[in-house]
Amino acid sequence: MILIMLGAPGTGKGTVAGILSKELGIVSVSSGDIFRKAISDKTELGKEVEKYLASGALVPDELTIKVIEARLLEPDLEKGVILDGFPRTTHQAEELEKFLKDNGKSITKVINLVTPKEEIVERIVNRRICSNQNCKTVFNMKLNPPKVEGICDKCGGELIQRKDDKEEVINSRLDTYYTETAPIEKFYEEKGLLYSTQISEKINRLADKVAKDVVELLK
Ligand code: AMP
Repeated sequence: MILIMLGAPGTGKGTVAGILSKELGIVSVSSGDIFRKAISDKTELGKEVEKYLASGALVPDELTIKVIEARLLEPDLEKGVILDGFPRTTHQAEELEKFLKDNGKSITKVINLVTPKEEIVERIVNRRICSNQNCKTVFNMKLNPPKVEGICDKCGGELIQRKDDKEEVINSRLDTYYTETAPIEKFYEEKGLLYSTQISEKINRLADKVAKDVVELLK
């Protein structure tokens, strides 16, 4: 099974992917996490991509595609994968399709998360993430704050704010999303793969409910 999580930054792709990963027993792979780890490990890849993440721009397609395709060949993904944050351009989507075809695979469903823009900005500025790479639990300082400030409820790790979750970078990330990534919706809609669904506090429809509906949809 191959699932793609689509949606603007801050819609909750990672959270929904995490729930689906447990429910469906397949691994979730986040391109953003791969890049952030490379930056914190100071690898060659990290040095190359750092400036793009800092400004909210996309990492160039060729490099991103190379990194993700290499990851897709790893044995832990044999049963399936949830791709969170890839593809993010039509070119990436086309290359992914070719790659999967060459490997005798195809996309099962594309889950497109839709949230009003004002809510997204509010959610991103209040987002704090557990710095423990094996935990990465997401908190929201307003909606679900940790019991002890700055400390993860689950593992005791330190909570951090992503550098690109600061207000100055958010608008640039959202612009990048609407201009470069949103056109992919049409690409997948035409293939009959797109499942668009609201995820919003305003209508009290959050990650748990969305993930439950996706599991039903896949039955
Ligand atoms: P995310 O954690 O998905 O919000 O991604 C954080 C940052 O990583 C993005 O703002 C981009 O700079 C980079 N990134 C992640 N996925 C991709 C992708 N598929 N293509 C290009 N850049 C990406």
